[in-house]
Amino acid sequence: MQSRLRGEAPQSGPDATEITRSPSEREVSLATTFGDEEFGLSYTSNERFDGSPDFALPALLLPAMKLGAPLTLPGGVSRRLLASAGQVQDVFNMWESIFGKIEVRPGEPSPRAATAPPASGVGCVFGGGVDSFHTLMRHNEEITHLLYLHLDTDDPQVRERAERRVREVARLTGKALIEVDTNLRQVYREWRISWKFGHGPWIASAALLLQNLLGKVYVPGSTTSNYDNLRPQGTHPILDPLWSTERLAFHHDGCEVRRVVKAEEISSWDVAMEWLQVCNHGQGGGNCGRCPKCLRTMVNLQAAGTLERCRTLPHEIDLDAVRSLDLSEYSESYFARENLRALESSGRNEALAAALRAALDRGAAIIAHSGYKEERLEHRLKKHLRDIERLQGRIERLHERNRSLRERNGSLQERARKLRERNQRLSSAFSGRERLRYALADGIVERVRRLPGSGRALKLAVRLLQKGEKRSP
Ligand SMILES: [Zn+2]
Repeated sequence: MQSRLRGEAPQSGPDATEITRSPSEREVSLATTFGDEEFGLSYTSNERFDGSPDFALPALLLPAMKLGAPLTLPGGVSRRLLASAGQVQDVFNMWESIFGKIEVRPGEPSPRAATAPPASGVGCVFGGGVDSFHTLMRHNEEITHLLYLHLDTDDPQVRERAERRVREVARLTGKALIEVDTNLRQVYREWRISWKFGHGPWIASAALLLQNLLGKVYVPGSTTSNYDNLRPQGTHPILDPLWSTERLAFHHDGCEVRRVVKAEEISSWDVAMEWLQVCNHGQGGGNCGRCPKCLRTMVNLQAAGTLERCRTLPHEIDLDAVRSLDLSEYSESYFARENLRALESSGRNEALAAALRAALDRGAAIIAHSGYKEERLEHRLKKHLRDIERLQGRIERLHERNRSLRERNGSLQERARKLRERNQRLSSAFSGRERLRYALADGIVERVRRLPGSGRALKLAVRLLQKGEKRSP
């Protein structure tokens, strides 16, 4: 699939009219066209999928907005979901102007209200990190299903370990596990849609395929959706509920709880301490214990005084690694400041607090020095992208011109060849003696023309000849 050049007005946007379901109803595919391009989205699960086409809206909205082309949906999409599509677009458009507002065309048959009451199941989107465990723990009574979306990885070890972990957590907590595998992430990659935004619609589309089982889905919030730190990103307390239909309600959970508090709360839960996973860069796809995400979680637990309870992370924190953390990026420094406050108020861990302060000071110095460096870089990057797209358009036009010039060159060569042949035919039509006679006659005429008064005499002779020719039959 080729991404369209921006600036060209696309004739047609994603036209999603063909949904195919396997007889087992555990596989669903959606054939889509963008102008001449065709491609397919696929979803598979261990559970039967719902029969509604609602999932197509979140899956295709961002690509259509990026193209700036109308989105044609399959018939029968939820009326409530369709009504929210405008607000979803407002949010994405304000976050990132690359997502233009577009027309969403409901297909035939017309949009429908609920055809069945909401299912009784309550799902929790579960990845196995601090936020997932926190949402699962505090809504444990209510949650009946874990919804796990398979990792997009080529490493079978990482994939297998992640699967084993969620299956084990589901077993230990007595929840039904729904696993969904989809190629949506790869498709977004090809469309160059940032995963920062794409992961929300990815979750929404998978959950909407499970409305036959789930009437409510909790989407665990992260630190970047804390109420004092709301950042533009795909899962968001404003955005997630907008994917709701008459049958399925999305709840973004945990915006009021800081990560350090979440870590403290889940550290009292054996299941979480046995299976917590925040990265997969370690041996066999486990926590590495060294990356910023691992260190951040270890400091969270250390501040709570419960790091030694966690069986998936090292119990020793490398202070040099903490000191050299890059905290020049806003989110990372937010995590670190939160951790520092917790360490300081714990009254323990002075050496760890000092290491974190050193990293924060260095990060602040970098930010102060670079000023609005990130913003400027983003601005320049966007300009370069626009230039590239313009150049691509120019290259295509040059190719076209080159092609028509080649065609013209070919026809001119053909014409020259025919003229050469004719010339050859004419010159071979005269014998050597005839050529000599013509040359002699030319010579005589030339000499006569040089005589005074011969020009007029010749013209007169020509006129007399022409008259003679006209008279003769
Ligand atoms: Zn790690």
